[in-house]
Amino acid sequence: MDTLDPDRPTHIRHLDRLPRGFLDCPVNRLDTILDGPTLIRLRGERQPPLFVSILLHGNEVSGFLALQILLRDFHEKNLPLPRDLWIFVGNVEAARYGVRRLPGQPDYNRIWAGGEHPECRMAEQLLEELSSQPLFAALDVHNNSGRNPIYGCVNRLDPRYLNIARKLSNTLVYFTEPHEVLGMALSRLCPTATFECGISGLAEGINRVVRVVNELLVEEGISDATLVGEDLHVFHTVARITVDETASLGFGEQTRRYDLCFPEDLESLNFRYLQPGTLLGWKAPGSPGLTVRDNDGRDVHQDYIRYENERILTRRPCLLSMLTADITVIHQDCLCYIMEPYPLQT
Ligand SMILES: [Zn+2]
Repeated sequence: MDTLDPDRPTHIRHLDRLPRGFLDCPVNRLDTILDGPTLIRLRGERQPPLFVSILLHGNEVSGFLALQILLRDFHEKNLPLPRDLWIFVGNVEAARYGVRRLPGQPDYNRIWAGGEHPECRMAEQLLEELSSQPLFAALDVHNNSGRNPIYGCVNRLDPRYLNIARKLSNTLVYFTEPHEVLGMALSRLCPTATFECGISGLAEGINRVVRVVNELLVEEGISDATLVGEDLHVFHTVARITVDETASLGFGEQTRRYDLCFPEDLESLNFRYLQPGTLLGWKAPGSPGLTVRDNDGRDVHQDYIRYENERILTRRPCLLSMLTADITVIHQDCLCYIMEPYPLQT
């Protein structure tokens, strides 16, 4: 056995009821009632269970707050859950500090396709357990740090998957990369959607999750009807923009103090149709620019961006998502994803 940090989980904990204090626990105190990543299996009147994952990122609390509201309601009315509900509480340690992940930890939403981290073993164990019996449906609930609409993601274009995502929002995103996400692994087991609930902790996102989970607990099956509707927007993630690990980043007018500089209102570009020539930022002379890779990992920056003097401009019509002004998130995850409209056959 190697010398693992005792705080690095290699297996999940199990509970068959809510731990005492869960319904009123502040998210940054969850570590006092949960001993690391935990699967809580709650009995309901019907099987198979609905699986809901929360807090894979410790600073994305809407899923947790939504489940507190929902479960408190059943508890106060002394009503049984209409269906089994399995809750996976992810990065309890990071939640304590209100961060996406702690230094030294892997990103908990990149551990679901194998790997060397102890956390990958924990992930494998959970997936093995989930695949050993039927699941009704699965949700993985997130927030984003930038100003984005609330939207639902799917990793398969199966109508059942799309119908779950559409319960959250008319804005849907289909993606296959990054493939190490929990949503991708769950998609092999049952109808699955990942919920992006806007800024963490805001009522709109929380209330929508409460409503959707309630609906899924009551419903007898997941609709496989083809999605139609003029108000429906489906996008396909085609590439991802990252910055060099060592690049210094800033916001505001380019002053050359930073390797890369972005407009103050960068986040206002999220989910908007951008014309070629839209300004994304400035690059200091000699600094590495943006890295743009497609779903196969190919360098495609020449397709999507161009540099004009020090300005970084879009080269073709596209949409961006997850643009954020949070420099830590840009470094740890990415600057944004590039999307194109996806025509659904109707
Ligand atoms: Zn997240």
